[in-house]
Amino acid sequence: MPKKTVKASQSALRAAIYARQSKELSEGIERQVNLCKKLCRSKGWEIVKVYEDNDVSAYKNRGHGTAWAEMLDEIEELEIDVVIATNMDRLLRRVPDLAPLVATGVSVLTVDGELDLDSAEGEFMATMGAGLAQFETKRKAERQIRANDAKSAKGLPVPSRRRYGYETDGCTPIEEEAKEVRRLFKDFANGASIRSLAKDMQDRNVNPGGGKGWPISRIRGILSSVFYGGEIIHRGVVSDSEYVVPIVSKELARDVRAILSDPARRTSPGGLTRHSLTGLALCGVCGETLHHMTDYKCRKALNHVQIRTKKLEELAMWEVHKWASENEKTAVEDADSLQVRKLLLQSKEIHDRIILSQDMATWPGADIPSLKAKIAKDGKEREALEVKIEKLRSKNASHSILKKIHQAWNAPIDAKSFAKWQQAMRDSAKALGWALDENDLTPERFEKKLRIERQIAEWPTFWNAIPLDQQREIIRSVLRITVNKGSNLDRVKIDRLR
Ligand SMILES: [Zn+2]
Repeated sequence: MPKKTVKASQSALRAAIYARQSKELSEGIERQVNLCKKLCRSKGWEIVKVYEDNDVSAYKNRGHGTAWAEMLDEIEELEIDVVIATNMDRLLRRVPDLAPLVATGVSVLTVDGELDLDSAEGEFMATMGAGLAQFETKRKAERQIRANDAKSAKGLPVPSRRRYGYETDGCTPIEEEAKEVRRLFKDFANGASIRSLAKDMQDRNVNPGGGKGWPISRIRGILSSVFYGGEIIHRGVVSDSEYVVPIVSKELARDVRAILSDPARRTSPGGLTRHSLTGLALCGVCGETLHHMTDYKCRKALNHVQIRTKKLEELAMWEVHKWASENEKTAVEDADSLQVRKLLLQSKEIHDRIILSQDMATWPGADIPSLKAKIAKDGKEREALEVKIEKLRSKNASHSILKKIHQAWNAPIDAKSFAKWQQAMRDSAKALGWALDENDLTPERFEKKLRIERQIAEWPTFWNAIPLDQQREIIRSVLRITVNKGSNLDRVKIDRLR
């Protein structure tokens, strides 16, 4: 690291002023520049150039075209000895920003005195090395909690364990992991259950990146996090972050959270590709799930099995119809959404406890081993709860939809359509020369006919009107569909799970 020692007594140092305005730092550029100029004058230094960045976030954009980049380029050429900013936060936001500045060999002075050339340890403090140490210490030591508050107020995530999908700064995505995060959000919004997503991550041996495998609770944690949509949460308040680079859209993240927090029903957000059997139907060759690419195909290998979308979806649709008509006499329990809500609250409480323990682990003098044990115990408890929630949710979803189906089938007949049906029967009997027994034209017969009509003729319309996620919950809990190699429909094997 090039070291440059600057003594306060030296005169005619060549200074550059760096000022940055951003949304979360309300102090204006003009004020910053004035403060820096005042400092320069008091030292008798020469101001070589003023660099101003408007709305540049240290995380998002410090690249080409910014005054920051320009300054780095010109430090040598303009023989700048010292860079002045009002404080460290204006100058840099994360340690990696220091590297290019350090490489120029320039000294740094901040108006607020965090880096103070005139202090007792002036020489020491004047080096970027000291700046780095201080910058890091500031975030780690006794100011932890205060710093967390301040950071959150500025839209920076509070440091904790590395968040899956992001570098340790909590802001910069790691593409390999971001890809998985995107997939989780999209598949979940498309109706996949947390359980199936966890299983998929486990089956594919996705690198857990610092975490311990892929338990359901971790998947839920990722899906319920605000960070992936570029927001932060502090003391229960969610706000936009200028620093966290979103991995999924804020809207998708919000939709997913809405689905997660509503125990009664899962409404699928619109605008997404809708394929009811993706991740549900199985390949008869390898047992992997099918996904949709024009047709349904094996996720693992293209030459395994392939089947027309409409054909497979219609088969499933009629199989559900069969199941629903056979189960008509079965008493249908009410969806127990209260129970799910209760479990969700419990799960959230445990989650909050875990977060608190993790936070406490960063405090000075923390009892790490006992906190670790506590986190592990809470984690296990939460995992068991999550499994329960998922099962109950799936059961509730299929129960409530079955109830809806039966209600539609058993809807009372209305007098008008009954009369209409009677007249139609008389007309056709007359036309065909049949002898018609008026006693046959009973409401019971009409109802029977109507019910068959409702159950068969109207079934496709009825089924297609059911939201995709609910369709999937039923298929998931009732059928196991395996597509074997071949060309006709006999190759589709459908097992009834209940
Ligand atoms: Zn296969």
